[in-house]
Amino acid sequence: MTSNKNLYFLPGDGIGKEVMDEVRTIVNWLGKHGSLTFDMTEGLIGGAAYDAHGSALSDETLADAMDADAVLLGAVGGPKWDDVARQHRPEAGLLRIRKEMDLFANLRPAVVFDALAEGSSLKFDLVSGLDILIVRELTSGVYFGEPRGIETLADGTRRAIDTQLYTSPEIERVARVAFELARKRNNQVHSVEKSNVMETGVLWRSVVSELHTAEYSDIKLLHMLADNCAMQLVRTPKQFDVIVTDNLFGDLLSDCAAMLTGSLGMLPSASLGGVDDAGRRMALYEPVHGSAPDIAGQGIANPLACILSFAMCLRYSFDMGKEADMMEQAVQNVLASGLRTGDIMQDGKTQVSTTGMGQAVISELDKLNG
Ligand code: NAD
Repeated sequence: MTSNKNLYFLPGDGIGKEVMDEVRTIVNWLGKHGSLTFDMTEGLIGGAAYDAHGSALSDETLADAMDADAVLLGAVGGPKWDDVARQHRPEAGLLRIRKEMDLFANLRPAVVFDALAEGSSLKFDLVSGLDILIVRELTSGVYFGEPRGIETLADGTRRAIDTQLYTSPEIERVARVAFELARKRNNQVHSVEKSNVMETGVLWRSVVSELHTAEYSDIKLLHMLADNCAMQLVRTPKQFDVIVTDNLFGDLLSDCAAMLTGSLGMLPSASLGGVDDAGRRMALYEPVHGSAPDIAGQGIANPLACILSFAMCLRYSFDMGKEADMMEQAVQNVLASGLRTGDIMQDGKTQVSTTGMGQAVISELDKLNG
């Protein structure tokens, strides 16, 4: 058994706490049966942190997160904090931790589990077996570019400005993540931009091409315009392996790809930063869904997105691909056995609670572990 890794839990608000409890059970299972044990510590973020000390993310919590080997986050937000000033809103905590940890690469897999393929808005044949990874640049682009704002001109007209801005190192580092991940998958990267109408798109295409020629010529690189990519995602999604794109297009395209899979309760994500001198990469893992105030406290939330986020953590932070595969296989088996939480319920299947789903994953892990 190798030395302990420190997992820092930030359950957050609403169903964040409920789904995170199931992850904790799985971490404990892995500690007993796997090759690595984990120390679990916990902090407050979002509304829970605001209630405790008037800020959605305290400096102490941020420091603990930066010290951890990986951070697992549930979800933040809820109507309770709707009237809180913008800078203290639960979502501000989330934006701050992503920015301070410089998590520039957001990984959103769109994987269709066979048992749920019927739930997709596309035909079964188009999505069955689908496995796409979208790598979205997360800390630059139009959401951060200056100048920005709304001004009133002398004649009373109001004018709004956003600035789309990228530097070559910002593009190169996220492209590098995409190429490295493609090497562990099917060796293909689509680089997506709007070089036909945007200068940032021209720079994006040229930086990605230069990096490809210099270091990744073993990977198949294809360039695609963002509007075409949106169309291709719903036309023939299986043509894609890894897609790398900027912050704005990534926001839209990853939501589009997510819906191919059928349910929000099934979607994990990872946000990765740079590698430090000791070889440690800043990383935060979280389900794509929010705090779901409409079902919070009822014990019916789907914990699988959070459990699959932990599988990504094993794969990307701890190089535990075998254990991550086992975790994903366990989820596959649970779904094949007909168990469902309410959000993915289908005729003839059996509905289980959040805890019931977590326990079912543990039972499958026991079986897979022999
Ligand atoms: P949401 O993702 O919380 O919920 C959307 C719908 O999906 C709801 O009907 C909900 O019940 C359902 N749902 C979501 N996750 C589910 C799960 N695991 N199991 C079963 N059903 C699930 O989005 P929303 O309602 O737009 O936002 C609610 C709050 O969450 C807001 O305060 C919003 O700002 C916040 N939010 C946070 C994050 C995050 O923390 N990363 C992301 C999105 C929204």
